[in-house]
Amino acid sequence: MNVKTRFPPSPTGFLHIGSLRTAFYNFLFAKKHDGTFLVRVEDTDRERLVEGAVESLIRTLETVGITYDEGPILVNGKLAEKGPNGPYTQSHRLEIYKEHAQMLALQGSAYYCFCSKERLEELRNQQTIAKLQTKYDRHCLKLDKEEISRRLAARESYVIRLLIPDGETTFHDEIRGNITISNSEIDDQVLMKADGFPTYHLAVVVDDHLMGVTHIIRGEEWISSVPKHVILYKAFGFPMPLFAHLPLILNADKSKLSKRQGDVAVEDYLAKGYLPEALVNFVALLGFNPTGDREIYTVQELIDAFDLSRVNKSGAVFDRTKLDWMNGQYIRSIDSSRLFELVKPFWGTASGLEDTQKEKILAVEKERLTTLGELAQRAQMYLELPDYTAETLVWKKADAQDALMHLKNLETLMGSIDLSSRELIEGAIKKYIGDNGYQNGNVLWPMRVALSGQAQSAGPFDLLWVLGKEEGLTRIHTAITKLAS
Ligand code: GLU
Ligand code: ZN
Repeated sequence: MNVKTRFPPSPTGFLHIGSLRTAFYNFLFAKKHDGTFLVRVEDTDRERLVEGAVESLIRTLETVGITYDEGPILVNGKLAEKGPNGPYTQSHRLEIYKEHAQMLALQGSAYYCFCSKERLEELRNQQTIAKLQTKYDRHCLKLDKEEISRRLAARESYVIRLLIPDGETTFHDEIRGNITISNSEIDDQVLMKADGFPTYHLAVVVDDHLMGVTHIIRGEEWISSVPKHVILYKAFGFPMPLFAHLPLILNADKSKLSKRQGDVAVEDYLAKGYLPEALVNFVALLGFNPTGDREIYTVQELIDAFDLSRVNKSGAVFDRTKLDWMNGQYIRSIDSSRLFELVKPFWGTASGLEDTQKEKILAVEKERLTTLGELAQRAQMYLELPDYTAETLVWKKADAQDALMHLKNLETLMGSIDLSSRELIEGAIKKYIGDNGYQNGNVLWPMRVALSGQAQSAGPFDLLWVLGKEEGLTRIHTAITKLAS
């Protein structure tokens, strides 16, 4: 079988971290089976549209490295599309949905409904008061052909509803097994709305079929829609795709993951300096782990290992601490030229520095970064020595006199040491400590504070390597002046 998966987001303005997982799993599954993967824009809910959302979505998918074979793309910043099954935006497919809905009405699997909003509201109220299931009462199912034609000709407002047959509906979910529900629980779902737009249910089934989708992999929140879809597939006579519903993503307290944008928008994580590599690795493990004994995987390893039968049924906890840890791992292990590219927007006031200087800062500071967003503040210290007090220069087991002596010795020593590599610097300073039988702290503490102006910073050899002889000497001299005055 030619596997084809899809990711059909509604363009609401940002990519939810849960949707990133859905998109990535669909990508992994397609790759694993040498299949294809498409992206489709589901914009039939006109009230939820956000300007520029599709463009932003395309860019975000590109940034995180989720490629697709068909769907909307940007060409010179303008929306276009690729693939033989377009249009890939539902609002450009209205005729297709209309034809399909009319076809169902003609064959008796769907029917026209002219009920007013007021009537439907009244019905719902009565049912609620009587503690009955709220459901359309099929008032318009009795209309005969002539009356329907007359009212359509008179341009009365109407919807088309799916006629849910008697009996029950069973489907198989690749993660959850067989699920059966009684059709009496299902409402006669509106397929075409009065505004000429299809509902999600009609559009998703028609498009998945016409676009050749074989596997529908999406979040658990959609599982309750499947019976309606199965009834639609049967009414159309379309072959049934395979379904797989991914576990919910939960907060640490096991509540459903917050919807607040700041906590769940992929774009916000990227803007804070989470690496695309770390984000996809992290979301991949929300509900699936290839080996169970480690956390860091390449995309290829995830492709090779991905298997729907190994996706968990139970909710996956979104652990921010783990994401932070993973991001740090990626910052330290990723190829340095790639890191240099990724970090470009994050230099802040240091952005004007020479590339060679930035490379050195990055080599030193990456050891302690959790996100790239922290870099601007860390880099500032290399540009300008922060203000600090003389007391900061004094190691806890020493005194000001001792600090002053070592800084003076260092000043002299700096005349002769080779600052071209961290190893040479370390060698020279350690020799000074060793030859004289000093303790590391007595020398390295004041040296480090003198160079950084901070109680906490990168190590003294690294700092000196980045700052170079001239700036290093200036800073040591500043420290001597502070202690001597
Ligand atoms: N448009 C739906 C969404 O916003 C797609 C649901 C599905 O995958 O069927 O997530
Ligand atoms: Zn009606």
